[in-house]
Amino acid sequence: MSKVFSKVILCEYLLSMERGDGQIKKNQMILVDENKIHSVGPVPQTLPEGKEIIRLNNHLVCPGLINTHTHLPMVLFRGLGDHLTLQRWLEEIIFPLEKKMVNPEFIRVGTELALLELIKNGITTVCDMYFHTPVMAGLFESYGLRGVLAVDMLSSFSDWKKDLDDLCDTYKESQRVHPAIACHAPYTCDADLLKLSAEESQKRNLPISIHVAETEWEISEIKKQYGKTPVAHLKDCGVIGPHSIFVHCVYLNEEDMDLMAETNTPLSYNPESNMKLGSGVAPILRAMEKGITVSMGTDGAASNNDLNLFTEMDTGAKLQKLKNPSKTVKAKDIFSMVTTSAAKALGLSDSIGKIQAGFFADIIALNLNHPHLYPRHDLLNHLVYSASGREVDFVMCHGKVLMKDAEIQGVDVFRIYAEAEMIKEKIKETV
Ligand SMILES: [Zn+2]
Repeated sequence: MSKVFSKVILCEYLLSMERGDGQIKKNQMILVDENKIHSVGPVPQTLPEGKEIIRLNNHLVCPGLINTHTHLPMVLFRGLGDHLTLQRWLEEIIFPLEKKMVNPEFIRVGTELALLELIKNGITTVCDMYFHTPVMAGLFESYGLRGVLAVDMLSSFSDWKKDLDDLCDTYKESQRVHPAIACHAPYTCDADLLKLSAEESQKRNLPISIHVAETEWEISEIKKQYGKTPVAHLKDCGVIGPHSIFVHCVYLNEEDMDLMAETNTPLSYNPESNMKLGSGVAPILRAMEKGITVSMGTDGAASNNDLNLFTEMDTGAKLQKLKNPSKTVKAKDIFSMVTTSAAKALGLSDSIGKIQAGFFADIIALNLNHPHLYPRHDLLNHLVYSASGREVDFVMCHGKVLMKDAEIQGVDVFRIYAEAEMIKEKIKETV
């Protein structure tokens, strides 16, 4: 008897990123076996048997996008303090609100709202840094998305050790929920806490995520305290290397970049957040020339104000052109920041970021029937510079269909919108 595949996906256009060259092939078939991709190749004369045949005519199929830095529940602070720069925004709005509002219920509603937004925008994996991480992990499990979920060592809301133990025990065997450690920043975590997080990371073999060199204020503050740059300080504390994801990196000097390159420390470029908080423009092209793995993140929605990697790619690419007028920025390099390089940054490059045999079936499709996607001179350029996320109408993660015909499957979205509005009322009462 011939094999029956879980899903047979027929793609008019496929950008698999298999060889990382941004090549788009026509009339391809993806065979999905449970949660993994069995094979990818041209559509044969006779189709193999499948429990479900998914025909994606007039669609561009590509790997599910990977967001390497965010704080999902902060969607509930979207639209607050939008006029402020980073230090005032944190100290006057975010930190006081978090103190009053953050509890498991807030985290649940915020995470559910954020997960809807991620699915709508074709993001199947995120690296998150926030509080009450076990609550978030449970929602990743039930919604079917993939998460590297970092427990904040600085949290006054819950016991980081207990949360980390919980996550490591519960998700030891999970292929979708990966525990991690978060240190907020070198200016909020003292040297002892940074050293402790490096020890925990080593002991438990977990990645660390940390905001680094985000503003000029941070550079001068760390110089005042330790007489060195944030990157050099982190190196002395042991927080550096392939398992340490350095977020923002707006103010890096040549030595910082050499240090990151030598130690294979990946970078998460968050251009929209850096623009909105008036922080600056990260030296991304120089970092790439040095051989640093550059991925992309949205940061929390309160400083962006959305969780959308399509607009992030567009903005991030244009900003680099503005910063480096004589250099070229290729769409394939920008797209790799949300696929292959992002997978590498998270230590998952052998399982996600490409549509390839043996990889997890994280697959999205964009409907090409939109005026802004014609004529089709170059679909990869359209993906980076013209698409906005609203074209995504099919999302699969780990072999499970999460969105079909632009409808999120099995979730009452209006229940979540109503709950978000109720939290808004509570926030209004506190400010
Ligand atoms: Zn952040």
